[in-house]
Amino acid sequence: MLPLTHSAPSTTEPSLLVVPRPEHSVSRTSISPNALKVLYRLHEAGFQAFLVGGAVRDLLLGKTPKDFDIATDAHPDDVDALFRNSRLIGRRFRLAHVRFGREVIEVATFRGKATDNESDQAALLDGDGRILRDNVYGQIDEDVWRRDFTANALYYNIADFSIWDYVGGIRDIRARQLRLIGDTEQRLREDPVRMLRAIRFAAKLGFTIDPAVADIMPELAPLLANVPAARLFDEFVKLFQGGAALASFDALEKSGLFAVLFPDTAAMLDSDSDGHFRRFVTAALVNTDQRIASGQSVTPMFLLGVFLWEPSRQLAAKLAAADGLSPAQALSAAAAQTVLRQTQRIAIPRRFSAPMREMYALQPRFARREGRRAASFLEHRRFRAAYDFYLLRAEAGDTDAESAIAEFWTGVQTMPAAQRRREFGTPDGERSSQGRRRRRRPRRRPPSNHGLRCNAPIGVKAGSFRPK
Ligand code: ATP
Ligand code: MG
Repeated sequence: MLPLTHSAPSTTEPSLLVVPRPEHSVSRTSISPNALKVLYRLHEAGFQAFLVGGAVRDLLLGKTPKDFDIATDAHPDDVDALFRNSRLIGRRFRLAHVRFGREVIEVATFRGKATDNESDQAALLDGDGRILRDNVYGQIDEDVWRRDFTANALYYNIADFSIWDYVGGIRDIRARQLRLIGDTEQRLREDPVRMLRAIRFAAKLGFTIDPAVADIMPELAPLLANVPAARLFDEFVKLFQGGAALASFDALEKSGLFAVLFPDTAAMLDSDSDGHFRRFVTAALVNTDQRIASGQSVTPMFLLGVFLWEPSRQLAAKLAAADGLSPAQALSAAAAQTVLRQTQRIAIPRRFSAPMREMYALQPRFARREGRRAASFLEHRRFRAAYDFYLLRAEAGDTDAESAIAEFWTGVQTMPAAQRRREFGTPDGERSSQGRRRRRRPRRRPPSNHGLRCNAPIGVKAGSFRPK
């Protein structure tokens, strides 16, 4: 472990450019009223208060910020004392979150220069130079060197609405350039996630990554493997659910970062001789961007499912052959193993991995287009996701997903009920023999009478106790 040293090159003295309100385009009407409340309250209490980071950058670009972050010289405890609705969070960086309903305003105390004292517990680096802890407070002219890109290091001062620029951020925003502050390699070693952030901002904002950063990324990419998997999950979501998934993916692949984040997927993309897996991944990324552009919901489980599909499918084929599992069972078991391997890099919460497995296990069910069981598939809670997934597979030319089958399932969803019953071969009053047998089978009583359901007349709720 090494003590954290100041990142700014010692020769660089901060030279401050203050841009007065009439000379910039950041207007209070575009700032969240809650962020303004926090800024004013801090200011009135005698503290410095600045809107910082992505919000200032986005407002200068005429875009709507995703969130509003504030920097202040108030200590986290002072901030906590000023706001009833605040909470202190973070071990690595101690911050106050001020909550207004669903909106959270993040208030960070200026970070300062750490001492070179090995016993200093406030700041710590690991053997690769990665920051493990950074809790030294300071002044704004120290805080600025802790930020990642010049475009993210602008401070909007609530005292007079001016913008403070220590690092040429305004110039770089105009030039649409992402430049790291300080020594490139050192800053990327301190926090390898900055490589992902560079790619995300470049893709989202259409900026160019400074060649000094882009050129060194392939060499430093393996450092991402040391970043906690939970943090990489958060970054994965931001990269792929920010509206520029395809551009992010392309840049991640070119820089060698994708192979560190998704080793199994990258290996399959490399050995994808007929190109269908790449077409599938590309189609899913395009689809994700389109959904976000049109305000539709997206879930991380879908793209994770797409990335892990080929590794899982190949493993499923082996499991089916060796253990005699059904296609659905094999896919589900293979997905569990693939997810387990993947979580060594990116932690996948169970609330996403569980539906992903279900979505996989439902894929073979599309082939069956007749009878009650096929008809009831439409009512399955994962039908929609499984169908979207199958559709993309068919589009990409996956040999196990036929276009004719995809068209059938597209058609039946919008048909009038009677026509739909004809399509499935389940006309009114007729039941499949399997259905009839099931109805007649006497149900066993559950061990204890937890609900009134088992008192219902036999047949009324037929099938409702069947495990899903
Ligand atoms: P967006 O919110 O649009 O994703 P952002 O730039 O606001 O982009 P945040 O993650 O909200 O990004 O962080 C706010 C600010 O904190 C950044 O603009 C940057 O100044 C600083 N920051 C965030 N993460 C890092 C990091 N890993 N290293 C250095 N500075 C960072
Ligand atoms: Mg932000």
